[in-house]
Amino acid sequence: MNEGARLPERLLLGPGPSNVPVRVREAISRPLVGHLDPEFLKLMSEVQDLLRWIFRTDNHMTLPVSGTGTAGMECAVYNFIEEGDAVVVGVHGYFGGRIAEMARRAGAEVTVVSAPFGEPLDVGALSQAADRVKPKVIAFVHAETSTGVLQPVQPIRQICDRHGALLLADCVTSLGGHPLEVDEWEIDICYSGTQKCLNCPPGLAPLTASEKAMQKLRTRRSKVRSWYLDLSLLDGYWGEHRSYHHTAPIAMNNALREALLIVKEDGLEARCERHKRHHLALVAGIEALGMRMHVDPNYRLWTLNTVQVPPGIDEAAVRARLLSKFNLEVGAGLGDLAGKVWRIGLMGINSSLKNVLIVLHALEECLRKQGYSCTPGAGVRAASEALT
Ligand SMILES: *Cc1c(COP(=O)(O)O)cnc(C)c1O
Repeated sequence: MNEGARLPERLLLGPGPSNVPVRVREAISRPLVGHLDPEFLKLMSEVQDLLRWIFRTDNHMTLPVSGTGTAGMECAVYNFIEEGDAVVVGVHGYFGGRIAEMARRAGAEVTVVSAPFGEPLDVGALSQAADRVKPKVIAFVHAETSTGVLQPVQPIRQICDRHGALLLADCVTSLGGHPLEVDEWEIDICYSGTQKCLNCPPGLAPLTASEKAMQKLRTRRSKVRSWYLDLSLLDGYWGEHRSYHHTAPIAMNNALREALLIVKEDGLEARCERHKRHHLALVAGIEALGMRMHVDPNYRLWTLNTVQVPPGIDEAAVRARLLSKFNLEVGAGLGDLAGKVWRIGLMGINSSLKNVLIVLHALEECLRKQGYSCTPGAGVRAASEALT
């Protein structure tokens, strides 16, 4: 193989993709079978069962959409929102804005209720907007990867109940890292991505939809505008009939099964606890280095940490040095937060004490290189003490 063409091995502590464990990489490299091979059909059922397990749902309509998280978003929006529908979208970050734009493209009458990047949604404002427009769907992002905010679900569910609206939640960065109860919280439409807390390469978007949502799909006035993402057609392949719709990404589905099995071996509760513990250790370290988190402690994601860039620091130079010297990727700020924060992801297997210590040490080194003053080793010390 041409060495020059080989991609380097990095520690991926950004907003995704996260690192992929050997077992999942091996699963991708298994010999290919056909997309209608009996062994693959069995694997599809297994993946669907595992997805129902991780989403905590009994929804029949549960499948991995072929495509990245954004394909899951389009699938959710284009199937369950149609022309003329009143829709309320809570936008407290970049990805909420993306949902709103898709809903507009689907022809909906979109009302946006926005919150500053770094804060949760204002439930009162959402409620008022819903009272005004009587929405068919209320959409929001559970884990805003652009800001590091976790949005509580139940208060929004209550607004939906008052209007008989469907609840659509983007759970790309919470699935497998934060508690998520699709059935108990009555989330009607929920999707995720493989490359965040599931530690798979990007390429599939797990999605689940309630019977109530499917009822809306079956009684649409118009056809779903996307043929590829039309769930009623996809159900021909992923439902009982297993008839050809499009060639499933076979290797990726095999990888997803392996990744979900790893989550199952971890146990969901233990896995979420681990994300919480290492998030708290990282925060202790960041604060010991004299830096500040961007989000109020009550709403912080455990999977994605936004750290404010200290005054006078060239944040891009820090990221460049982290990559070149430490082989370590962290994310830049996105949208309103561009240049203002770093985004440190601790997702799935990457949520470990080792990675917390590495990123704190590396960050300190890069900051000191720029003349930042802090107690040497204070971050690493505080993080390891937080874990004892
Ligand atoms: C990453 C992400 C997406 C988009 O997923 P892609 O895989 O990049 O298409 C959507 N929503 C949220 C909250 C995300 O973090």
